[in-house]
Amino acid sequence: MLAPVRSDRIVDAALAVGLISPRALRPAGWIRGQRCPSGCDGGRPRQGACNYAADGGRFHCHRCGLKGDFVTWLLARGETPDRYADTPPAPPRVQRGERLDVAAAWAGLQASPGRWRDAVGAWARDVRGWPPDLVAGLVGQGARPPVDDVAGFATGRLPGPTLTLVERARRLGRHVLLALRDADGQVRSVHLRHHTAEGRGQKTLALPQWLTGPSAEWGGLSLFGRLDAAVEAARRRQVVLLVEGGPDYLVAAALARLGLVGAALGAPSCGELPRLGAALAGRLADAGLAGEIGLIPHRGDADQAGVKAMVAARTAFGPRTRAFWVPVPLDADGRGDLASAAASVRSAQVLAALVLAARTPSGEKPRASG
Ligand SMILES: [Zn+2]
Repeated sequence: MLAPVRSDRIVDAALAVGLISPRALRPAGWIRGQRCPSGCDGGRPRQGACNYAADGGRFHCHRCGLKGDFVTWLLARGETPDRYADTPPAPPRVQRGERLDVAAAWAGLQASPGRWRDAVGAWARDVRGWPPDLVAGLVGQGARPPVDDVAGFATGRLPGPTLTLVERARRLGRHVLLALRDADGQVRSVHLRHHTAEGRGQKTLALPQWLTGPSAEWGGLSLFGRLDAAVEAARRRQVVLLVEGGPDYLVAAALARLGLVGAALGAPSCGELPRLGAALAGRLADAGLAGEIGLIPHRGDADQAGVKAMVAARTAFGPRTRAFWVPVPLDADGRGDLASAAASVRSAQVLAALVLAARTPSGEKPRASG
């Protein structure tokens, strides 16, 4: 689920990033002479010409003319509104317009898994509660490298782009990194996640668009995993798991790494699931393959958004594709997903058996359950 952007948070966010002076705060009316999110004052606090409504509803800069609500403010800051959390992100230190070579940054982390493997393993084991064999599948063991869609904060001699990326992870206090790829498998963005159980604010922060470039540049599709790998799995008549969100993807990817399922694909949010379903369906059709897809939605979201999005994703698949719904254990609040299911089993083997038990026998019409 995307967190709704609360429109009354401009003042809080502007205070947090130093665009409003705490001394200027007042309970009503306009807070005048503050700094503009667009940076039109060149970073000089004395030049502030931006007024903020004290109730946090809007802002208006009298220098550059920019005005609007919180979403406008976030966009001017280069932050993506749909990722915005209760806690505003720390101010970016990289100059606007200075793009990050995300693929190079990611490659720099993947070249040194020894620097972060233990930290990611500890997160998977202690924070997520995943079983040992699943964790080993995820972060690798001995000479076997980790699943290359995960990384962690690292220090030491790292290439420039990688330093920029890990510095951002450090400042935001989110040390687990997940790669988002385009339809061709190139890493285009990175999700930053809390590495401790105590993390506050939104669980995931994406890299802002000014750093990665707009997703339209790579066709608009961002996903966890590789479409090619899913097509290859279908060619081998293996099951492809379709999930939502980073942790669910990592669990599914670990199952694939362990050879328990064919491949895993994840949408970064429920809103992007239908697009991912359509992309996979298109690839399968192009390859002349039917495919067998295990659908594992988030259950118990507000308004069942996760289930609805997965239903929409499923409609993309043609009649030859066998799609089956995987039930996951629900907690006391009626919520459940693959990542939490993984925390309730003693091994990846058990989890894979649970997932594959839902397979539709060949020739039987798939049906939705719940
Ligand atoms: Zn301005």
